[in-house]
Formats: sequence, structure tokens, C-alpha cells
Amino acid sequence: MAKPTSKPIATSKPSKLAKKPVVKGDAPASADAVKSEESIEEKAVVKVTTKAKHEGGDDKSEITIEKKLVALYSLQQVDSQVDKIRIIRGELPLEVQDLEDEIAGLETRVDNQIQETLVMEKSIIEKRTSVKDALALIKKYEDQQMNVRNNREYDSLTKEIEYQNLEIQLSEKRAKEFQLSLDLKKEEIENYQKLLQDRENDLEIKRNELEDIIAETEKEESDLLKTSEENKQFIEERLLTAYSRIRKNARNGLAVVQIERDACGGCFNKIPPQHQLDIRMHKKIIVCEYCGRILVDDGIVNEMH
Ligand SMILES: [Zn+2]
Repeated sequence: MAKPTSKPIATSKPSKLAKKPVVKGDAPASADAVKSEESIEEKAVVKVTTKAKHEGGDDKSEITIEKKLVALYSLQQVDSQVDKIRIIRGELPLEVQDLEDEIAGLETRVDNQIQETLVMEKSIIEKRTSVKDALALIKKYEDQQMNVRNNREYDSLTKEIEYQNLEIQLSEKRAKEFQLSLDLKKEEIENYQKLLQDRENDLEIKRNELEDIIAETEKEESDLLKTSEENKQFIEERLLTAYSRIRKNARNGLAVVQIERDACGGCFNKIPPQHQLDIRMHKKIIVCEYCGRILVDDGIVNEMH
């Protein structure tokens, strides 16, 4: 239901709808005021005047604009703190997740390396068996040499023995090489296991930290939300809706910003001097003509502290 109480918030440029306060040096609405009107998303927000008599019935209509601005700014500070808590709390589980992933990766690596050592150990045993087999063959050939019928048979057995001796040398060399790799691999595994242990300790610490922070911030958050609710008592529904909408659309969650160095604290566009004067008057809620954020001066900021 469109009620006559619904009027737009004033922009930092005087609009046709906003009643201009009588201020010396207050410039009349310029031609680009129309253009600026269009760039503002929040058009259908209540224009609040000091008395707001037309809102009769509503207790909040008796609250001065100055008080509403202070409440809005306080609300913004509290909500920003809640945002910060939620961001911090949002990042910690990710850190825990990263550690868990790293640990899983290390465990797989260690498992694979253990498999590799088993293969190496098996190879070493094979080479040692080869040596034993060769030695047995040499023994057999030497026995046969005792019973040869001619030199040719004897020489042939000698060649076989030489060949087996070479086989033994080769197998021993291979066994030694495998043993060396095995030792290196075992050392590597030991290092990874140490690293794994460290990471598991880190994870334990991070998990406890996360639990503590969740417990801590939940308390802090609920206190802040309570303060947020208290501030909302001074602000009428329509203004709160506008506040929420601006906040949701703003990347940094800021709906109420301070004038900083003659510029909007949200989008950093310059605010003309006459509009800064309007803002300092605390007679109406004024939004930035560029980004639509509600603007307050340092007077409001100081009142909050
Ligand atoms: Zn702005």
C-alpha cells in the first residue's frame, strides 16, 4: 500500500523532493541533479524530517534525525564487526582443511614409499638367492671336474665356474645398489614421518584454536547482535530496510559512511561543499549521489563515542 508517508531519502545533491534547509550559501539544485537522482538505487526511502509529523502514531517519528543518524552509524559499526567475526571464523575452517589435505597427501606419499621399500627388499633377497644358487653351481662344477674324462670337459666346466663367479659379482653389486637405495628411501620415509607428525601437531593446535574462536566469537557475536537490535529501536522500519538493502549491495557491507576529506567514505567521490553543509545540519538523511550510501559527518561519529 503506497502511503503518503513514503518519500525518498534526500541525496547529497538537493533533489526536487527534498526540502532544502535554509542555509547561507546553499546552492540551488543544479542541472545534473536529475542525472544524479537516476544513479541512486534507493529512491523510495522515507525522507525524514525533524518532526515527521505526518508519521503520527509512530513513536519513532519523535526521534530526531540526529539521533537516527547516530543510531544508523552505530548500527553500521556493530554490523561491520559482526561481518569481520564471520570472515575470520570462515577462514579458520579452511586452514584446518588445508592441513588435513596436506596430512592426507603425506600419508599417501609415505605409504607409497613403504611399498617401494618392500619391492627393494624383495629384490635384495632375490639377488642373495642368486648368489647362493651360483655358489651351489660352482660347488657342483668343481665336483664334476674331479671326474672329467678329458681336458675339453674340464675347460668347459672351468668356463661355467668363471661365468657363475661373474654372476655372483653382478648379483652382489646389484644387491649393494638396492641396499643403498633402500637406506636412502628409509631415511626419506623417516623425514616424511617427522613432517607428518609436525603437521598432525599443527592440526591439533588449529582445531583447538578453531573451537576456542568459535566459542569466543559466538559470545561476542551475540552481544554485538544485541547492541545492533538496541540501535534499531531508534530507526524506523523503512529506513532499516533501506539500510539493509544498501549494505547487501555494497561490496564491503558499508551502508553508512563518514565524509572523509570532502569525499564519500564508501566510493570516494567528492561531495560538493553545499551538500556537506546539508549533511552537517543533521536535518535529513542524505545518501551519496554516486553509491547511494548514507552519509554522516564527524559530528555524528563523535557523538557515538
Ligand atoms: Zn559514495
